[in-house]
Amino acid sequence: MNIKNLPADIHDMKGFLAEDEAEALYRHAQAVSSLGPVLEIGSYCGKSTIYLGLACRDAGATVFALDHHRGSEEHQKGEFFHDPDLYDANDEVFDTFREFRRNIGKAQLNDIVVPVVSDSETAARQWQTELAMVFIDGGHSLDAALTDYRCWMPHLVRGGILAIHDLFEDAHAGGQAPYAVYRMARASGLFEDVERVNSLGVLRRL
Ligand code: MG
Repeated sequence: MNIKNLPADIHDMKGFLAEDEAEALYRHAQAVSSLGPVLEIGSYCGKSTIYLGLACRDAGATVFALDHHRGSEEHQKGEFFHDPDLYDANDEVFDTFREFRRNIGKAQLNDIVVPVVSDSETAARQWQTELAMVFIDGGHSLDAALTDYRCWMPHLVRGGILAIHDLFEDAHAGGQAPYAVYRMARASGLFEDVERVNSLGVLRRL
């Protein structure tokens, strides 16, 4: 797939996103970008944000990139997915925001991507803007994933896309919270299936 203006070093950027999943995000964001802005929940260092941002550029749409940038449970010091490059030793915190800004700048997406540095519930409290696409890739505890779904799903327009990352049927392959939320969304009667790409599930709001 030929994606215009993709930074040459995109595959070296930190993140947990397969190429086929990235391309699917790009395709769906591009398809609905005329309906309104895209919200990404869990941006980490901005890899998926870049695909969404490039997809929105032609329509002049905005990507709201929501992340508290302190990492999830599994990114904290001593945990399995901890990256020491992203640890701020002075403040003794995990911090992905500096790397995120660097990557978004590198991709020349500062006029498309609006970072929202907050937890999901706080950001949602006064939110009123309808969304063309919601991409859930935040905390993987059941509580975090459910909060993301409940807070943001009501803002999705009819015809809009709900994408959920890290779906694993097999509990040995990964945490089950995103998959539980995906099943809940499918059982709600509010969505139709669009496709599954690797661990990414894509639904359309009816
Ligand atoms: Mg993910």
